[in-house]
Order: sequence, then C-alpha cells, then structure tokens
Amino acid sequence: MKKLESRGKCIFCGSTFSGKRITSHLNTHLFQKQRLLDTGKQHRQSYHIRVESGSMFLQLLLDGEIILKTLDRFLRNIWLECCGHLSEFSYQREKVSMSRKVGEVFYKGLKLDYVYDFGSSTKLDIKVLEVFSMAAEKKIVLLSRNEPLKIMCDMCGKKPALEICTIHDWDAFCEDCIPIHEEECKDFSDYASMPVVNSPRMGECGYTGGSIDVERDGVFKME
Ligand SMILES: [Zn+2]
Ligand SMILES: [Zn+2]
Ligand SMILES: [Zn+2]
Ligand SMILES: [Zn+2]
Repeated sequence: MKKLESRGKCIFCGSTFSGKRITSHLNTHLFQKQRLLDTGKQHRQSYHIRVESGSMFLQLLLDGEIILKTLDRFLRNIWLECCGHLSEFSYQREKVSMSRKVGEVFYKGLKLDYVYDFGSSTKLDIKVLEVFSMAAEKKIVLLSRNEPLKIMCDMCGKKPALEICTIHDWDAFCEDCIPIHEEECKDFSDYASMPVVNSPRMGECGYTGGSIDVERDGVFKME
C-alpha cells in the first residue's frame, strides 16, 4: 500500500498531530508528569515506545515491571490476532525471550524487531523513545495511535473504502463499488474480500480487526 499521511490524537490533551510530531508532544506531557511526582522516591520506571509499520503507529507507555509477553498480547489484541500464530521479538536477529522484563531489556534508543506469523508475516519496528523514573498508570497505556488512514475507493475515488480485494492487488472498494467488483470478480465474495481495518495486518490471513480500542479500528470517516 502507498504511504498515506497518518495523524494521531494525544491521550492527555486531545489535540491531533502528525505521526512525526506526536512523539515530542507526548514527551512534553510525560516529562511534566515526571516533574510533578517526587521522582527521587520512585524506584519504578516506565518506557515510552513507538511501534511502527508503514504509515501506522502506536505510541505506548509501558510499565518497566511487565514482561515482553504482556506487550506481545497487547499488540495481538490491538493489531494482529487472527488465528493464534507464533510471534517473536528480536534484537539484531537474536531472539529476545518473552519472559524478559521490559525494565531489564529496554533502554533509550533501543530498536527491536517484532514479527507475528512466520507464514504471511506482519513485521513491526519498535523503538524505545524515552525512559521515565515513574510507574505507568497501567501496565500499558495507549498514548496515541494513527487515526484510520484515508484509504479511498480505488474505483470511484469518492468514498472511503470498506473492503479490499486480496487477489486484485488489494484494490479497495466503497459501498457503491463493492457490488460492481462482485460482478466482475467471483472470488471477491467467495473469500478475497477483507474489511478495511486500522491495522498493518489488514488483508492478511483471516484478520478482521482488533479487540481493544475498537472505535478507532474502523475505516476513514469523511468530515
Ligand atoms: Zn497533548
Ligand atoms: Zn491467521
Ligand atoms: Zn467507489
Ligand atoms: Zn477482485
């Protein structure tokens, strides 16, 4: 899929920023929170990370006490899970065990690779952006994610696409053009039609959307 512009909303103030600017914006809030706490007494740490695939991103704050398995589960629930495939974190092609603690593995600037499903793989890039000397409010806080991308109908170009055809180069179709493509592509209604979702796993295997933060998992909405 071509690179589409992505924008994300800040969990703290509700403002919207480009995928590039949201990192420093969230950091400003997080540093402010850290200052307000008496961090001298805090032995806990939290980790601001970005998870990325093409135009799609997640900005997360992880509590340092969680293990990588907890992050794996979160990624599956929001972006990946279709039928229980294997997944793996790795650092420079070396596997990193799921039972390791985030606080033991992560440091500022670390880049990890993540793969879900070794058949039709979805690969994610993880970067540790900042480390804070404060506990996170939950195990994993969803600070921001890209709002649904502006994926428009490839046939008419007028309306947001609702479904893609996985055998026709992932062409995307709106509500008006779905019946037209059904006429000319009999595989489309059989098996090749997949819903447009806000995830890099769109169109892969049986993926039909996430199980958390579902209200932002849909298609692009015209204003
Ligand atoms: Zn904000
Ligand atoms: Zn699957
Ligand atoms: Zn259309
Ligand atoms: Zn088709």
